Amino acid sequence: MILLELPKKFKLKKDAYTRRRGTPKMLFICCSSCNNYIISYQKDGPGPLLRCYLDRIHHPEQLQKLQNICTHKNECPFLECDTCKTTIGVPYVYEKEDRLAYAMQPGSFILKKKKLLELSKDTRLR
Ligand SMILES: [Zn+2]
Repeated sequence: MILLELPKKFKLKKDAYTRRRGTPKMLFICCSSCNNYIISYQKDGPGPLLRCYLDRIHHPEQLQKLQNICTHKNECPFLECDTCKTTIGVPYVYEKEDRLAYAMQPGSFILKKKKLLELSKDTRLR
């Protein structure tokens, strides 16, 4: 299981993608089956979460690093829950931008507020 040590403040990326899509915000994605924390993700602009670009994953570190390691989707591991092994995202290339991303599996994940994440961490420790 990934220990939940989120930075106090995330530094949001601002680049051409952000400018094109709109105001970025941080989303905290958890497994819908077991509630386990999966990733902290920067979503640029409004709309539902259909894909997660590798270059917008901010945490945990081993997944954040994938953007520098993977050049092809075959090198990219599936995004799955450490605890119950549910597949959360399948690697693919968003062709319009030639950008590596995870196709998020509908229903496999939930979005949480940071406060709630920290609350569930406290309960786990007790
Ligand atoms: Zn799970």
